Amino acid sequence: MRPVFRQVLRYGLFAGAAALVATSAEAAGKLDVAKAKAQIDAGLAKDYGGLDALYKDIHQHPELAFQENETAAKLAKEMRALGFEVTEHVGKTGIVAVLKNGAGPTVMVRTELDALPMEEKTGLPYASHAVQMWQGKPTPVDHSCGHDIHMAAWVGAAQRLVAMKSQWHGTLVFIGQPAEEAIGGARAMIADGLLTRFPKPDIGFAQHVGPGPAGTVSYRAGVNSSSSDGFEITFLGRGAHGSRPQLSIDPVMMAARFTVDLQSVISREKDPAAFGVISVGAIQAGSAGNIIPDQAIVRGTIRSYDPATREILKTGAERTAKAVAEMARAPAPKFVFDQGASAVVNDAAITARTAPVFKAAFGANAVEAPGPGSASEDYSEYIIAGVPSLFWGLGGIDPKVVADYKAKGQEPPGNHTPQFAPTPEPAIRTGVEAMTLAVLNVLS
Ligand SMILES: [Zn+2]
Ligand SMILES: [Zn+2]
Repeated sequence: MRPVFRQVLRYGLFAGAAALVATSAEAAGKLDVAKAKAQIDAGLAKDYGGLDALYKDIHQHPELAFQENETAAKLAKEMRALGFEVTEHVGKTGIVAVLKNGAGPTVMVRTELDALPMEEKTGLPYASHAVQMWQGKPTPVDHSCGHDIHMAAWVGAAQRLVAMKSQWHGTLVFIGQPAEEAIGGARAMIADGLLTRFPKPDIGFAQHVGPGPAGTVSYRAGVNSSSSDGFEITFLGRGAHGSRPQLSIDPVMMAARFTVDLQSVISREKDPAAFGVISVGAIQAGSAGNIIPDQAIVRGTIRSYDPATREILKTGAERTAKAVAEMARAPAPKFVFDQGASAVVNDAAITARTAPVFKAAFGANAVEAPGPGSASEDYSEYIIAGVPSLFWGLGGIDPKVVADYKAKGQEPPGNHTPQFAPTPEPAIRTGVEAMTLAVLNVLS
């Protein structure tokens, strides 16, 4: 994380980014946004049918984390046909497609490849009926996070950038990342040489579809999503009859005391101005009311926006667990920390440079997000590895449907629900426009 963000985080101010936006009209001045958008739309008029077919094919044939063999092969074929040099099996099932077009910056564009282990219940004519092995058993698979929208927009942006090749200079590194849902795909690609075997990106872009109105784009400088870690603690005690507690070392007492004391890490150890959450979501112990069991398992989640807070919460949870066990005369508990995705922190300068382009292209449909989202994303790995980036949101649902739900005081089914049903047109179209313009803006 670069120091500027630490400062921004510390004081909870994002006004600096807003000021940059105001002065960045010049930076965006080189790109004639209206003209470029008209060219993109003229190209889409010709190629949209193919993108729609690709989207529906991928939607009907979703694949789980690190099993995206067919999906990766489809994208590799599309990119080779466009003249990209494609390397497959980067980080197991990932792909890297490179196109060099003279001297200039290297820009990375990322899509995810994976779907989720759940049954689709949208009733759409192109709904998925796919089944794959998941944790040892056949499981329905659904693109219920919309990664199929991202893939179609990714191919569409590559098509437009190739068609507009005379208008920009630099290198494109289009990556298809496996296993975003399982958190591990970004790390796998980096470990397999993404940033050393291929041109190192100076700038990175990615987008994610959500339950907002299709046709909209939302972005923000600084923190965009939280980190997400898990923990599992096993308190080791001594079992006894419930009527003879003096013979026990009671793990239920330890689990209960830990769950309560844990919140003092939030209230007394972290900076009150810094975002941080610890929640215990599962406590498992015992079988009957008159038996004191010999162990208790506590599982929880830790969320934060910055590495310092993340560390305070992690060490605070572990220390509290140890202290609770010691107080109960119990052996040290087993503490397993499951490091998940880090917070995605958007680069202030890239956001400031791109925002006016989105505003010019989409008008009121380009909005600055008021706060970070609560979801987590492993795109953060690329940023931590030194690729300053902008990760923005894309509305995915028919605006009429969104309005109908809103009238009832509800929201349409979102990502990771079996009813999540993005409307490909205009979600894919907007994704192609936004991504192509963002890349052109930094390469023209
Ligand atoms: Zn997801
Ligand atoms: Zn996702």
